[in-house]
Amino acid sequence: SLNPRLTVLESIVFGLKARGFAMSEGRTRAASMLRMVGLDPETFAQRYPHELSGGQRQRVNIARALTMGPRLVILDEAVSALDKSVEAQVLNLLRELKAKLELTYIFISHDLNVVQYVSDRVLVMYLGRPVEIGPVDAIYAAPKHPYTRALLASRPSHDPRRRVTVPPLSGDPPNPINPPSGCRFRTRCPFAEAVCAASEPSLLPRAPIGATRGHPVACHIHDAASGHSGAGRIAASGAQIGRSA
Ligand code: SF4
Repeated sequence: SLNPRLTVLESIVFGLKARGFAMSEGRTRAASMLRMVGLDPETFAQRYPHELSGGQRQRVNIARALTMGPRLVILDEAVSALDKSVEAQVLNLLRELKAKLELTYIFISHDLNVVQYVSDRVLVMYLGRPVEIGPVDAIYAAPKHPYTRALLASRPSHDPRRRVTVPPLSGDPPNPINPPSGCRFRTRCPFAEAVCAASEPSLLPRAPIGATRGHPVACHIHDAASGHSGAGRIAASGAQIGRSA
């Protein structure tokens, strides 16, 4: 996302200039941002993107995003192109900046370990719909939705006792332009029943927008009134699907 014809400083100042900041102030802010992301402005300000490593480029991008003083930063696959050691450095930098600048992140990723490391709350999506939302510890320790459970089961494990040979999920995601009726996950869900094709499950229990507590899930098994054969047992016992149901 860095313009190859702009130096690091020009890239960072670009947004400030567009917002009407004087060049001198832009340069001062850009230099202080570079310092904040761990790049010495003396060394890096006049470099072009091709003279930087992947991790350094990502630090420049973070500096660009933060120069405008945002409260919310959307990070879309922010570390997926980095190798593991650089990924860890950038993640630690993001955590430091979050605390120092009191930021909120929306962190979008397919890497479940990274999500677990950076998140307070996690929202799991399938085919464009949220299927489960909750505190990171609750989602990872006791996932409710069959898709979340399959995702977590697909994580590689270092422990040979936890090695699995059966794929946690089979089939391909359906075409999002023409999704299945009812629950969008039903064509791949081992617990699908007629009710799953007939009606789309809602995120339950309902919570006000912006609520930071609770662990709602969109699955008929977790709705005692849905008519799914597993619903009564799950609702009554609080058990997890695939274990006791
Ligand atoms: S609503 Fe039905 S198909 Fe969808 S996840 Fe729940 S059990 Fe599976």
